[in-house]
Amino acid sequence: MIKFVPSDVAGATTTCDRCGSKFKVPLRKKFSHSLAPVIPKDFDAKTNNKFWQLQTVQIDCPECREKTSLTLSTVREAGKVLLYGDDAHRSNTHGAVFCFSLVGGSYPLVARFQRDFTTMKAKYEPALDPSDWKLHMKDLHSGHNRRTHPVFASWGRPKVEQFVNDLFSLIAAHSNDVFTFSVSFSAAPGGLNCDAKRDCYIALLADVIYGFSKTGYTPILQFDSEKRFSGLGPIVHGWARDAFRGTQRELVYSYISHGLPVPEPLFVQPASHPCLEVADFVSFVVARGHHCQMMGKQSEYPTERLGRVFYSWLRRDGNYGRERLVGFPWHEIYKL
Ligand SMILES: [Zn+2]
Repeated sequence: MIKFVPSDVAGATTTCDRCGSKFKVPLRKKFSHSLAPVIPKDFDAKTNNKFWQLQTVQIDCPECREKTSLTLSTVREAGKVLLYGDDAHRSNTHGAVFCFSLVGGSYPLVARFQRDFTTMKAKYEPALDPSDWKLHMKDLHSGHNRRTHPVFASWGRPKVEQFVNDLFSLIAAHSNDVFTFSVSFSAAPGGLNCDAKRDCYIALLADVIYGFSKTGYTPILQFDSEKRFSGLGPIVHGWARDAFRGTQRELVYSYISHGLPVPEPLFVQPASHPCLEVADFVSFVVARGHHCQMMGKQSEYPTERLGRVFYSWLRRDGNYGRERLVGFPWHEIYKL
């Protein structure tokens, strides 16, 4: 279920075609079928790229109790954007937090970013193919993990710091064309269960799908798989699939997606795309920031250094916020 609906969707109204009364769209109405567009079997991105968008649905008028047809807001597809996601969580004696981050944009911009990141990696390990080693911040940050890592074991503190500085600069330099989204759900100690994780995932999906589809862009989402990749192709986690399919039967989904054919997000081999490595870094930085706020200390990785990020956050009191900012708005969650 999409719990945190953008305000202009939450306020949507319609007029009954029988009695003329104006009423709020029953966004929570569930249908027995999906409201996602239908893709024909012979669909081809180049030669036969038509898909059927649902234009109207029948709903009940709360005034005259008659059926009335609701015209859905659909847009023409202008293009696609690629987004890569990863999660991080932290818990300590003061609280817990769960983060999902997505990094990506249009094909050419993602390709350019990928090239710049790969070039940067090659500078640090010139003897290795940059795709043969992956950035995983948990391994790089901790001295203990570094010592046992096949590549990072030879890196001293100055090299680690230089690499992190370079990566922050790269992300910030691209932050107007390669988009970064990061959602954080904070909770009391031990207060993050599977439901919270699912709600956090759906909240990020809804924000991203809404933001891009409004302008005609269909997001294609890939997440780092937490489960060991079996080598049998992309994995869609059962819980994520159920959550996504469930939302597609809610009337609100049609408002969120503007009738665009958003494919089910895929869960792929960890770090199988450079942007997944960057998403791992972003989630680490944001989760580390939460951890340090809870512990009353300064993070070594200030979120300001990521440049402009679309942040969303859920406070313990249930308040959900979203804003594009330089630096995470810690004051929204923690008393300073
Ligand atoms: Zn009516």
